[in-house]
Amino acid sequence: MRKKIVAGNWKMNLDYNEGISLFSEIVNMVNDEITGSQTAVVCSPFIHLYSIAQLAKGYSKIGIGAQNCHQAESGAYTGETSAKQVKSTGADYVILGHSERRQYFGENNELLAAKTDTALKNGLTPIFCIGETLDEREGNQHFDVIKTQLQEGVFHLSAEDFGKLVVAYEPVWAIGTGKTATSEQAQEIHAFIRKEIADKYNQQVADDTTILYGGSCNPKNAPELFAQADIDGGLIGGASLKSRDFLDIVK
Ligand code: PGA
Repeated sequence: MRKKIVAGNWKMNLDYNEGISLFSEIVNMVNDEITGSQTAVVCSPFIHLYSIAQLAKGYSKIGIGAQNCHQAESGAYTGETSAKQVKSTGADYVILGHSERRQYFGENNELLAAKTDTALKNGLTPIFCIGETLDEREGNQHFDVIKTQLQEGVFHLSAEDFGKLVVAYEPVWAIGTGKTATSEQAQEIHAFIRKEIADKYNQQVADDTTILYGGSCNPKNAPELFAQADIDGGLIGGASLKSRDFLDIVK
């Protein structure tokens, strides 16, 4: 049985105190309100990680993650943070390949393959993001783009290592735009991703992979999106900055 996950991506928002106070609200609400088997993951800026991991201790339904890590184990990379450093804060997840990293920081599939290896080696669960731009969708290239992102980014992994990943489908045109994919569009791509995984590994690996949808997900559209057969939760940007909205999506 694959895991149901809703992960909040705070991006570069919230100063230290704001982050701690939002996270404290989230912990209490998850504890009071979540009775199912789903996990709520919060991916904060690096500055919050250690503190929120401390606050999350003892709460099994909460996970903590970073939004990036470096591909090298350690060394002279001023301003960067390694997977080992992330793990040492108590975090268990790391978002890799977010479209903002691909677009603004030039991260390509080859680099992301290296980051995935380093994250896994250090015991982190990568939330590996893929998705097409508007131009690519309008040019009917979305299936090819997603296939290539999988092939070059994560299909070098053994079946065992691939089984440790979470995949997130985020159509770039839906991120932060208020324009969400329809549940049919999202389900179509999720089913395609699962089939690619089955073709590369086997049906069992595909059935066990958690595939999240991301892009303008909110408490209103989440129920229909998450009801789709191949959508196992969400990666939430804007709506994860409000505890009530985030919790409603988790629920
Ligand atoms: P959004 O962001 O929910 O604000 O569209 C999603 C994401 O970038 O992960």
